[in-house]
Amino acid sequence: MSSINIIPIGSGSTGNCIYLEIGAYPLLIDMGIGYRRVRDVLQKHGRDLSDVKAIFLTHGHYDHVKAAPAIANHSACNIYCDESAMYPIRKIDENRRIVHKINETAEILPGLIVSSFSVPHDYVRTCGYTFTCQGRKVSLVTDCGQMSEDIISNLIGSDVVIIECNHDVEMLKKGPYPYLLQKRILSKFGHLSNDDCADTVLRLYQEGTKHFLLAHVSLINNTFEIAYQTVKDRTEGCDLDLYVCKDEGDDLLTY
Ligand SMILES: [Zn+2]
Ligand SMILES: [Zn+2]
Repeated sequence: MSSINIIPIGSGSTGNCIYLEIGAYPLLIDMGIGYRRVRDVLQKHGRDLSDVKAIFLTHGHYDHVKAAPAIANHSACNIYCDESAMYPIRKIDENRRIVHKINETAEILPGLIVSSFSVPHDYVRTCGYTFTCQGRKVSLVTDCGQMSEDIISNLIGSDVVIIECNHDVEMLKKGPYPYLLQKRILSKFGHLSNDDCADTVLRLYQEGTKHFLLAHVSLINNTFEIAYQTVKDRTEGCDLDLYVCKDEGDDLLTY
């Protein structure tokens, strides 16, 4: 079975960019980390941005697209996203910007099946992705205000799930964010709490997934330890593997 390699280069409100190899295809999800850092982290593991075969955007928020022009300049592949994320990347060569519909499944490259699915977030159209190739499956869902059966049905069957574990509800409520911002984050169009993430991880574990990357952890309303411990406690006794994506990371994970 071919291996899955993941480098979480950046995750969270300061910037998002995940490098994924599945079925030997190097891919990038989101372009919210500066080009030089992306280049250096990939180089550390003997990878090169110019080899990336496709780039996917979850949505058009700044923390997911801010480095798009520079990253596009140093890569040659197509960039796939929903129509609503087109504006932030409008300066990139239009032949490389491919609009996909959310809830669409397509064979992007020979043998690589990519599905997008709708995720409720901030009144901007946002999607998660599943990548399937050579019998392996990886899913990503971040910037997700509320988990749903529809999202879970997309995630089921994944070998690896990258899932948002944004905030500890008590920390958020007692934290420095203004009331309206707190309300937005807690709403079903905000971000996924540690508790909701933990419930989803448990559910997916029961459905057979063993490997989880906790992502988009808030540096203000959460800590990496609390995020990890909340999911760990909820899944006590489960034989699963949890990795917490830092705001900046350079680990190469192999599954
Ligand atoms: Zn985000
Ligand atoms: Zn967002």
